[in-house]
Amino acid sequence: MTNNNIYFIANWKMFGSVKSVNSLSKVISYSKIKKLKAKIIYCPPYTLIKYFVDKTKNSNIEIGAQDCHAQPNYGPFTGGISSKMIKDLGGKFVIIGHSETRKENDNKKINLKIKSALSEKLNVILCIGEKLIDKKKNKTKSVLKKQLLEGLKNLKNLSKVIIAYEPVWSIGTGIIPTENDLEKNISFIRDTLKISKKFTKSKILYGGSVNAKNIKNLMRIDNIDGFLIGGASTNEKIFIDIMKKSIN
Ligand code: PEP
Repeated sequence: MTNNNIYFIANWKMFGSVKSVNSLSKVISYSKIKKLKAKIIYCPPYTLIKYFVDKTKNSNIEIGAQDCHAQPNYGPFTGGISSKMIKDLGGKFVIIGHSETRKENDNKKINLKIKSALSEKLNVILCIGEKLIDKKKNKTKSVLKKQLLEGLKNLKNLSKVIIAYEPVWSIGTGIIPTENDLEKNISFIRDTLKISKKFTKSKILYGGSVNAKNIKNLMRIDNIDGFLIGGASTNEKIFIDIMKKSIN
């Protein structure tokens, strides 16, 4: 993979405080080096979105949310955050269907959430991935296909949808798929989008235990457009190190 326009999306999950916004300074400086032709996107908790937007105002780093409500506007949904509200804060992206949220979200609801985000012109990062039990039962492809086709149902233009392939067994475990499996599964996702006449140029990322040690090997895989990074992205030094190693 070349380092041209590769995505580094930081998913901070339920971590971070107002103070931790300061840790973006070094990443902002680093993002300006010419050799790094990456797109850096931070998805902090809702409570920090505005701080992140303000902090990164004069940089090319963009900000997103980690989920949104299925209703795009306003309404009597206590605790809900709509795509309109994310946009209002300056967010440009939203992660939808992360495995840590799929217990409360079936594919139908994920499809509604994607539609709500697109109606507000947000970019969507749709997470898909098999559980360990699916992998053991050789069901990876059928799981990925179902998540893709049901999640993207009735959507014609996927130009604002990025797919993040995140095997559930790889998230936060330190275990990543073999190069061969990863290449095969990413190709399968691309083919599924093609066969179902979905937008074929969709960016496809890998997520799951990406760190400064495995990034070089992951960069060897041709058909990946970037990475969704959880734990390692909350430490500025490690996050920068990952990006550095992606270009050397
Ligand atoms: C994630 O939560 O999307 C993720 C990839 O986490 P981690 O990098 O910590 O495995």
